[in-house]
Amino acid sequence: MPTTYVRVIGPDGKLTPPVVVSKVIKTEEEWKKILTPEQFRVTRGSGTEPAFCGGLLKNKEDGYYLCVDCNLPLFQSNAKFESGTGWPSFFQPAAPENVREKSDLSHGMVRTEILCPRCDAHLGHIFEDGPKPTGLRYCLNSEALRFVANDKLKDFAEKVPSQSKVEEAVFAGGCFWCTEAVFEQLDGVYDVVSGYAGGDASTANYPAVCTGTTGHAESVKIVYDPARISFEKLLKVHFATHDPTSLNRQGADVGTQYRSAIFYASDQQKQLAEALIADLTAAKAYKKPIVTTLEPLKGFYPAEAHHQNYVCRNPNQGYIESVALPKVEKVREKFKELLKPQAAATP
Ligand SMILES: [Zn+2]
Repeated sequence: MPTTYVRVIGPDGKLTPPVVVSKVIKTEEEWKKILTPEQFRVTRGSGTEPAFCGGLLKNKEDGYYLCVDCNLPLFQSNAKFESGTGWPSFFQPAAPENVREKSDLSHGMVRTEILCPRCDAHLGHIFEDGPKPTGLRYCLNSEALRFVANDKLKDFAEKVPSQSKVEEAVFAGGCFWCTEAVFEQLDGVYDVVSGYAGGDASTANYPAVCTGTTGHAESVKIVYDPARISFEKLLKVHFATHDPTSLNRQGADVGTQYRSAIFYASDQQKQLAEALIADLTAAKAYKKPIVTTLEPLKGFYPAEAHHQNYVCRNPNQGYIESVALPKVEKVREKFKELLKPQAAATP
């Protein structure tokens, strides 16, 4: 049974911490039975409703917007804004785990499609012309959403599965856009967040980190299911997709913020990293010595919204084409058996 990693509505009517849940999978016939023809056309057929026609465009009530197909909470009223486009617009999702992004190259444009991570319903698209603080505009179809006022949320509470065991790994290997894209490909990886590790909360922002004086490295936090992919496998992918012999630099990106590092959260993670480095050194896997630092994880600070899923959103940008996509290709070639089914299938 495929699973995903999301926040659901708990018994108190509030969002739970991220939990592993089964994906909602139905046949076309089953969806047709529970959806209106327009809901089916939009969410199961990647349709778009006509502008200025959706029932939720003008809604100003306080509450949550749930996936109309599976009731996953997607957006909250406090992030809704009037974009003038004719579709309900939000500047951020209710939780980063609850919206999945995917490159959409249809209609001769590069756009980023947004999907429900639990049932794969098509929701809309995301654009980079939104208001502060994220600068993003999540452009939704009303037909894909079910609005539920705050006092009615308890009616949509779900039993939180107890055996939702996930683990986290924090790696640095140069530009986080590229590192994030590498790990997003792997089966058993629920979420990859770009961010900063190695420094303090007060300097965990892009302009400060760019100075190279904060102690932070551009890092990724990988949330994964240890039953499906091990920490060792993640380490192997990491060492195969960046240059661990390059001190404080990856290619043209220079500075301590681009250092190669493993931020270990436990002694076990530290020992596994030490063992792999010893193996690679003994096997003379690289011409030069490995300079990857092993540092205790003191905190991980997610980066600004426009740095998340950057490769997916900007596949045609020069830097992404020349630096990130070759890394993604490398993972697809070298670690075929570790890929998510959909990553293996896309060209
Ligand atoms: Zn859904």
